[in-house]
Amino acid sequence: MGLLDKIKPHTPPVRPADLALNEHGGLTIRWEDGQESNFAPRFLRAQCPCAGCVEEWTGKRTVGEAQVAADVRCRGMNPVGNYAVQLDWSDNHQTGIYSWDYLLKLRVGGPQVD
Ligand SMILES: [Zn+2]
Repeated sequence: MGLLDKIKPHTPPVRPADLALNEHGGLTIRWEDGQESNFAPRFLRAQCPCAGCVEEWTGKRTVGEAQVAADVRCRGMNPVGNYAVQLDWSDNHQTGIYSWDYLLKLRVGGPQVD
């Protein structure tokens, strides 16, 4: 997959109706289909899709849960167009752009907190 494929705006089948940081420092997403995802902060930080966390050409993940502090928190988010959100983490990492497509993939089988 080339860089353009990764950043090309694209309409996923289900989009977030609402996004909010939750009290765990993770992300709560209410989806258009009525499902709700509560992403744990460490999980989400460890899934960061940026070039600093995943080697661009090989797709190999270089920053995962082993490299992420247990108490990492999300402290801010910025919308990116209408297809993604950029997350600002307490370990000063803020280059990760999480597209709706990517979050939708993560919601299936990802650890959830309540
Ligand atoms: Zn990253």
